[in-house]
Amino acid sequence: KPAGSAHGHGAKQADPVPGMSGPGMGPHGGAIQKKTVDGVRHIIAVASGKGGVGKSTVATNLAVSLAKAGFSVGLLDADIYGPSIPTMMNAWDRPLADSGSQRIIPVMAHGVRCLSMGMLNDPEQAMIWRGPMVMSAVRQFLQQADWTGIDYLIIDLPPGTGDAQLTLIQAVDLAGAVIVTTPQTVALADAIRGINMFRKLDVPLLGLVENMAWYDLPDGTRDYVFGADGGKNTAAKFDTELLGQIPLQTRLRESGDSGTPASVGDGPLAEAFADLARKIVEKVP
Ligand code: ADP
Repeated sequence: KPAGSAHGHGAKQADPVPGMSGPGMGPHGGAIQKKTVDGVRHIIAVASGKGGVGKSTVATNLAVSLAKAGFSVGLLDADIYGPSIPTMMNAWDRPLADSGSQRIIPVMAHGVRCLSMGMLNDPEQAMIWRGPMVMSAVRQFLQQADWTGIDYLIIDLPPGTGDAQLTLIQAVDLAGAVIVTTPQTVALADAIRGINMFRKLDVPLLGLVENMAWYDLPDGTRDYVFGADGGKNTAAKFDTELLGQIPLQTRLRESGDSGTPASVGDGPLAEAFADLARKIVEKVP
């Protein structure tokens, strides 16, 4: 550390809550300095108010679709307690560190550079960590991994509006956030809280993805299992874009469980996610 900073403060300010300050963050309650991530052009967060609505499914398929469109893509799993990316991308290799730069090398899967706590921890073991440790891990994944040359870094956020989300939003300059929700009333209520969180923290909201929007019945009609158009109506009400509606499909669940996202292949699901990727690129060129 050079003696004395550009602003003339020689001594490091004390961190009143251990682990709450670090690269890109001021001490707890202090001024926040947003950082860019070395080598990354745009960082996009995929968020949800609630767990189980398909956030990781959307994040993985969006990442793969962007890679298929020719972009260099990274996928960071910020869900430290419940990482899904290793399963959904079949990326279980333990990441190595570059001996020269000391940076963590993300694991390549389906054309996407992935990093997840699930690659470092025994999948059957719980991460029994307090908040500051989680935040420290997320910061390391951002600042001490080799993301050189990445056009889009997709961050799979944990669900909700808690510590991890706040740390990330305050530590880096997000190009925007995508919120995933189902059309169900209880999921929408949480999605609305997510919308408001990003707005309060001045993160551009790119729009909403309505997942599990309907189920196609054999007779050609649709069963709106979780209600019709909840995401669409919420997007309109909160003046944001509906980026896509993804149906409930066995194949989408199977593709996630098998580690080969639906977007890797062709067909209507891959096309729906390619369309989502195109919209993201339009908004964050
Ligand atoms: P979250 O990240 O919001 O917790 P996930 O993406 O892990 O949600 O999805 C939860 C489960 O639902 C996963 O098993 C996933 O495969 C499945 N799933 C997500 N979206 C769909 C869908 N549209 N159709 C069928 N299964 C889905």
